[in-house]
Amino acid sequence: MEWTLSIPKIELHAHLNGSIRDPTLLELAKGLGDKDIINFSDVEGVILKNDRSLQEVFKLFDLIHILTTDHMTVTRITKEVIEDFAAENVVYLELRTTPKRNDSIGMSKRSYMEAVVKGLKSVTAVDVDFASCTVDTKSIVNPLLTNDTCNASTRKKIYVRLLLSIDRRETTVAAIETVKLALEMRDLGVVGIDLSGNPVVGNWITFLPALEFAREQGLHITLHCGEVPNRKEIQTMLDFLPQRIGHACCFEEEEWSKLKLYKIPVEICLTSNIRTETISSIDIHHFVDLYKAKHPLVLCTDDSGVFSTSLTNEYHLASSTFGLGKREMLQLARDAIGFIFADDGVKRDLTDIFDAATEKLD
Ligand code: 5GP
Repeated sequence: MEWTLSIPKIELHAHLNGSIRDPTLLELAKGLGDKDIINFSDVEGVILKNDRSLQEVFKLFDLIHILTTDHMTVTRITKEVIEDFAAENVVYLELRTTPKRNDSIGMSKRSYMEAVVKGLKSVTAVDVDFASCTVDTKSIVNPLLTNDTCNASTRKKIYVRLLLSIDRRETTVAAIETVKLALEMRDLGVVGIDLSGNPVVGNWITFLPALEFAREQGLHITLHCGEVPNRKEIQTMLDFLPQRIGHACCFEEEEWSKLKLYKIPVEICLTSNIRTETISSIDIHHFVDLYKAKHPLVLCTDDSGVFSTSLTNEYHLASSTFGLGKREMLQLARDAIGFIFADDGVKRDLTDIFDAATEKLD
């Protein structure tokens, strides 16, 4: 586990509100409990429960959103989530979140996202590179050097880019509003759009105009695809040719063939799939088949807080379950450079970081 922690890693599928630390969630719940807004002991049990079905996870998110959706808290959790990923040597993070509107507290989708950006800017423990136009290629610090006493003055650096999520409960108009916001915030590190939310809610056709608009405008797109059996939707999503998809759990032969033909990279979230029983057992996880087929894939956490995991843990799990050695693990982590939504400058910097890590292994 120590070695897995030490290698540079790339996280491409992490939901902000799913990645909150448990102590923070409990503290927020206690605060609302003290004000009699919620019943703290009921909520504490829900937060600390370990196994949840996919549908229970979405109920939990409704609760989390009650606890977190004010500007100050959004800023705080963004800061903490970035610090947590950086602490485990994640060198590039694509953090996704659903811009939320809550008129009763004067929150618009834009002000929600401004609170997220404020969180990015308020990280002090590490250097955060989040704006697409301010990449300083000289100051990137190899995470492997940070434990080196000769480099006591070097600081760890993490690249963070943002994806705005469209929630499947939203209307076409609301989805387009999210895409417009993403376009306005490109200079602040927004690189793409995600479609997520309860997969049994909503219809693909509702989101299609927003996704087409996003693509026309040059935003990258990733879709939650195949979390529940829905062959028609899965096939339509694949034919849309998104740059990546998340999960791909409920595919049948025809969908696997399409996925492989189109070479769409898959964001694999092992612990999430097992905890929500989207996949019945890890030994039969599609990671194995895709990995053997050399299909593009990347290990991700999905919701590190909700599923009590970390990216280090996901690599460790893959290694211990599927027998991957150090070299294979490092290569797997490195391959993700090819699927990030940031520009070539960032890709070059990440390549340097992984070159150094590979040299250290030799
Ligand atoms: P947020 O967008 O509020 O920062 O992060 C939480 C939200 O991400 C949830 O309300 C849900 O819409 C989405 N989400 C988190 N985990 C999953 C998942 O495993 N599957 C899907 N489809 N959506 C998820």
